[in-house]
Amino acid sequence: MSCDLIALANSGVQGLSPYQPGKPVEELERELGLVDVVKLASNENPLGPSPKALAAATAALAESHLYPDASGFALKNTLAPRLGVNPDQLTLGNGSNDVLDVIARVFLDKNSSAVFSQYAFIVYPISVQAVGARAIVTPAKEWGHDLDAMAAAIEDDTRLLFIANPNNPTGTCLDFADIRRFMAQVPERVMVVLDEAYVEFVGTGLGEDGLALLKEYPNLILTRTFSKAYGLAGLRVGYAVSHKDVANLLNRVRAPFNVTVPALAAAEAVLADADYLTRSQDVNRAGMAQLCSGLDALGVPYIPSVGNFIAIELPCAAGPIYQALLESGVIVRPVGIYDMPNHLRVSIGLEQENARFLLALKTVLNSPELKKWVQERAQ
Ligand SMILES: *Cc1c(COP(=O)(O)O)cnc(C)c1O
Repeated sequence: MSCDLIALANSGVQGLSPYQPGKPVEELERELGLVDVVKLASNENPLGPSPKALAAATAALAESHLYPDASGFALKNTLAPRLGVNPDQLTLGNGSNDVLDVIARVFLDKNSSAVFSQYAFIVYPISVQAVGARAIVTPAKEWGHDLDAMAAAIEDDTRLLFIANPNNPTGTCLDFADIRRFMAQVPERVMVVLDEAYVEFVGTGLGEDGLALLKEYPNLILTRTFSKAYGLAGLRVGYAVSHKDVANLLNRVRAPFNVTVPALAAAEAVLADADYLTRSQDVNRAGMAQLCSGLDALGVPYIPSVGNFIAIELPCAAGPIYQALLESGVIVRPVGIYDMPNHLRVSIGLEQENARFLLALKTVLNSPELKKWVQERAQ
């Protein structure tokens, strides 16, 4: 007997398609028989992990037969004083993606709605829809969030609002004074999530601004991650900073052992490795300048970005160019799923990786096949 298993899922889940990750290096090497593939697709840290984090994670593996500390005591007590908050204001997650998902499950249900912007990080619609809540998507303004439109979009049943600052995949960043004004307009019954996954790459005091605002607004939740500037994407550690009552709620839903033994150890160790963060920031700044001047030289437009990635605009649908780059061993990220079919998102790599991407892009854009393709479309 066969039955429609898909129909058994809740209606939100039935309408979802799985998150599409960047193509893994091994997969491309296997498929095309290439070696020396460069991956600039998932905003990963090109430096590799901090040696101190790696040593701590390796040592912690000896404890692998034990459950991790479910309270994350040591990591929270290292983080809290750096952030100027109490440990009971922190909620740890298996990456901040996990935290975002927990937030959606805590505050949303099928009778409520959540607001986020066009082009915002794709995890928001997934988490909202998975719990059967309604998504209210506001139009973007110059690729960034339009805070006035977002405030105006709040309805009676709205419980959650997501702001990615900086936003992925566009790399746009809001002026903090505007966020402050925005918070004053938002009713207290709406929890505002300020997703600061890339905050360490922004050269201003953005991180401190968010933490200061948290003291004024109990309906604000900041989310941060160890995946990007701290280089631990594969170990999965992120966290929320909130009012302690909100943290209490999040901790009710969070899976008790959601951060593993080596991940907790590595996160603590990388916080003690100040040199690693500085190097991440330096490499990113230099790589961003290199990519921008390379793109300028090629005449390829891009959305100015403050993150560790940049969205470039192509003269046609990005698919064929993405494919041609793959064939030359460079993996970048198509963003058609974000409703940006003519863009590709490129993560900032090491100098030689960026150079390899620029060379591959130049070759692809100058290929007679592509020129013909573009011409045909233009007619
Ligand atoms: C990468 C990213 C995250 C989270 O990544 P995790 O690895 O799950 O911590 C969150 N928000 C945005 C906007 C991101 O780009």
